[in-house]
Amino acid sequence: MENNVPSRVQLVFDTNILLDALLARGPYFQYGVELLEHVRDGLVEGWVAPHCLTTVYYILERHLARETRNRKESNRLARALLNEIMGFLKPLPETGTEIMSLDADTGDDLEDQLIVELSQRYLENPLIITRDKWFLKTNMSAAHPKEVIDQNLHRDVPDPHDIPFIDLAAQQRLLQPALSDKIQTVLRHGKYIMGPEVAELQRRLAEYVGVNHCISCSSGTDALLMALMAKDIGPGDAVLTTPFTFFATAEVIALLGATPIFVDIDPQTFNMDPDALERVAGALKGNHSEAGPLPRVGGADRLVPKGIVAVDLFGQPCDYDRINAIAEKNNLFVIEDAAQSMGAQYKGRRANALAEIGCTSFFPAKPLGGYGDGGAVFTDDDRLAEALISIRVHGQGTDKYENRRIGLNGRLDTLQAAVLLTKLEIFPEEIHLRQAAADHYARLLSDHSASLTPPFVPDDMKSVWAQYSVLTKDAQCRERVQKGLKASGIPTAIYYPKPLHLQTAFSFLGYRAGDFPVSEDVGSRIFSLPMHPYLTESVQQRIVDVMGREIH
Ligand SMILES: *Cc1c(COP(=O)(O)O)cnc(C)c1O
Repeated sequence: MENNVPSRVQLVFDTNILLDALLARGPYFQYGVELLEHVRDGLVEGWVAPHCLTTVYYILERHLARETRNRKESNRLARALLNEIMGFLKPLPETGTEIMSLDADTGDDLEDQLIVELSQRYLENPLIITRDKWFLKTNMSAAHPKEVIDQNLHRDVPDPHDIPFIDLAAQQRLLQPALSDKIQTVLRHGKYIMGPEVAELQRRLAEYVGVNHCISCSSGTDALLMALMAKDIGPGDAVLTTPFTFFATAEVIALLGATPIFVDIDPQTFNMDPDALERVAGALKGNHSEAGPLPRVGGADRLVPKGIVAVDLFGQPCDYDRINAIAEKNNLFVIEDAAQSMGAQYKGRRANALAEIGCTSFFPAKPLGGYGDGGAVFTDDDRLAEALISIRVHGQGTDKYENRRIGLNGRLDTLQAAVLLTKLEIFPEEIHLRQAAADHYARLLSDHSASLTPPFVPDDMKSVWAQYSVLTKDAQCRERVQKGLKASGIPTAIYYPKPLHLQTAFSFLGYRAGDFPVSEDVGSRIFSLPMHPYLTESVQQRIVDVMGREIH
């Protein structure tokens, strides 16, 4: 048939891309999902060879059978998934006789050869979507799904007003129907408080982090509070921490009647500076506030230094070898505030396992976020674990109505645990994708190194990129860049504009502007760009293009 109008591209999905998308498998599965969504939404034609469906069904069903341990259920689920994609993908006409015309001498995979043969026979402008490099050897057009998305072959540049700062909707689309399944299970058994999903999550997280005990709880704030309570912190105690963090870190210290003592940060990592920690710990012992500085309150010289709360800011661990050593020398405990760093690594060990106690948060915007509040405490210490379990539920003893100490109602909901278990499945892949997005930002930003400093990650660290925060050369430059991005519909945020020692709530400590110069300076120049596992390179390019216009 003659046709002068070039016809639109017709995507032909290879077996491996469909499996990646349906199983949320491999580092690039979301690109396949995105392409399938474009087919579903009618933006582009999508085709599949029927013989591929048998393979997709077979592998899908076996995978689900392992997960559900119920053959009938896995059968039903696999068919439902196939049904769903066949609601918008078109089957190539396949009679089975095409096989006769294939070249038998090449040694090539029959399934792949058939895809090429059918595409050539029946489609005008096919583009095979595959991860398999073999297709590139044929004279067919073929492409990796990531390539298609990044080059926007099939659509215009996305509306900038659609760019989210953290894209939870994209993640949710991927997790259906596993998510509704897990939630349905909870609704069916009805154990909403401390149900089996809570125990399973704790087991899985302890294994993931690499510690003996995980005690889930109601928020990251409560995780920190419980950790300090397990350490018997109270009035008269001093706890050293950073002023460049979320309010909760120091808030819980003050809530227990203890005194937060701030320690300035490292200008490159924004984490607690071990040299400054050594100085403040020394100053506390001798109360030389010039070396500190220390709070200007009566009785500061009588405070008993008890511990350190170090914060893995923006997803990057602190230098724990040094912090733990300084703690030991000064007889202090160390709590790792890993609210932002679940999944990060320090010298091959995972965040939350880097100090005596690790505390994390499952707030929705954190790297491993739920659909509500949640948190967890990690430790290898059996006695601490026992105390934490007791504190979590009103200081209970062996019996529910025996109370040994003052505690909290600090439990994690079973429904939240079910959500987190589902999200944990794709968490390693999401970390991979966050790293890829961070690497791409670094490449794009290298052209602007005179006015912008990208994040610094030491060799022995792996950040999880809870935030991708850059430093501008001055406050005016930050204002200009943020304004420009906002006008283009690109959201940004400042973490943290005002260090904690200058917050009204902590004015009782008597700290002054100038006490922590690095925190104050960084706070005036830092801001964070959109960062999540589902950022595409084309969106990142747009963001950096807009920034480039604003900095000179
Ligand atoms: C988010 C956060 C917390 C508190 O966690 P919630 O779950 O919101 O209570 C504590 N510390 C830091 C560093 C955080 O980023």
